[in-house]
Amino acid sequence: MRESFLHFLWRWRRFDAQNLCTTTGHSLEILHPGEWNTHAGPDFFNARLRIAGTLWAGNVEIHLRSSEWMAHRHSDDPSYDNVVLHVVLEEDQPVLRSSGGEPIPCLELKGRIPPRVLETYQRLEHERAWIPCQGFLPAVPEIIRLNWLDRLLVERLEQKTGIIAEMLATTENHWETAFYRLLARSFGLKVNAEPFEALARSLPLLLLAKHKNNPKQIEALIFGQAGLLEGPFSDDYPGELAAEYRFLQHKYKLTPLASGQWKFLRLRPANFPTVRLAQFCALVNQSVHLFSGVLEARNLRELENLFEVQPHAYWSTHFQFDKPSVKRAKTAGRDFVHLLIVNTIAPFLFHYGKTKMLETCQKRALSLLEEIPAESNTIIDGWAELGIRAGNAYHTQSLIQLKTRWCDAKRCLECAVGNAVLKQ
Ligand code: SF4
Repeated sequence: MRESFLHFLWRWRRFDAQNLCTTTGHSLEILHPGEWNTHAGPDFFNARLRIAGTLWAGNVEIHLRSSEWMAHRHSDDPSYDNVVLHVVLEEDQPVLRSSGGEPIPCLELKGRIPPRVLETYQRLEHERAWIPCQGFLPAVPEIIRLNWLDRLLVERLEQKTGIIAEMLATTENHWETAFYRLLARSFGLKVNAEPFEALARSLPLLLLAKHKNNPKQIEALIFGQAGLLEGPFSDDYPGELAAEYRFLQHKYKLTPLASGQWKFLRLRPANFPTVRLAQFCALVNQSVHLFSGVLEARNLRELENLFEVQPHAYWSTHFQFDKPSVKRAKTAGRDFVHLLIVNTIAPFLFHYGKTKMLETCQKRALSLLEEIPAESNTIIDGWAELGIRAGNAYHTQSLIQLKTRWCDAKRCLECAVGNAVLKQ
């Protein structure tokens, strides 16, 4: 048994609370179990109890065995001085206060745990299925599951805002620049995220804005800074970009990235960094105020229009410079744009709304996810096999959060679904 199970029992009072008394025989009544503390210090703060007729307000500490109080050296820690009750599975030794030497009131839960709750807990603990509660899932009321998934979606968005906050910190809270860098990162997908971000850092928006009416110069700056215009080239297009870049490089004293940073191996040609860079050029050519464009877009359709850009015609017959291929449009496709919205645009909008206290932005981030079709991956397939089908990206994102951050970590005792299972 884990101590967290005792936390669960105490927090929700899921034990036999008839005729409670401390191990020294004093009557005990729980008026409030206190607030669960997941940080350092006692496990529950501000509990209210009546012991032997006297009202006590203070903290509660929980252990499997009472001797752990000494093993954890709580006697030497003043933050435990206000513990008014020690809750244990078993009292294997009495615990005395360091000041005064009187015993700390102790409640033993051994013999008070309902067998059904204990059995369910053990099944959740030892289950080796795809998720621990899968045998119980059909009996969990849908309303509980849906409310919990709503909460997890917000948790997922907030987790994704960590990198946004970091980006803002390095741009003196310049939202456009932070968005531009983050978007560049997303264009690199997982494999080329780092060089894409490095590229965006090396090319300030202000510099790109100076050349906003000259697509060739924007393309020269982006491909040149990416280190991909070192040539020599047989095709005219990269040759012209290289000449343009040499001029701009000298003018702005630019240092390009090493071309070896870009990874092509095992990528589908449509995801080659050269193709994504060409799309990124097209996006910057359209506007350097990308985040303003996101804020102005009134619905998903307008956002898709903003990001479904068409790169220079050269790329319709190439995936890389000087390597002709069968003619094929290299427009940033709808699936890719949806990926950008799910991973970057919606979290960014959500964080912006939260920071600026603009509830409408937060709601828009959520409704964008509702408008985007469900993602397809092995996690979503796993949920579908259990009969839980996702209708849109809002659902898929929350189901991914549940599986990766909760089920895989076996956090069933803190999960609303787990709570419902243990109450069945
Ligand atoms: S974390 Fe929740 S949903 Fe996942 S297995 Fe445990 S109880 Fe079930």
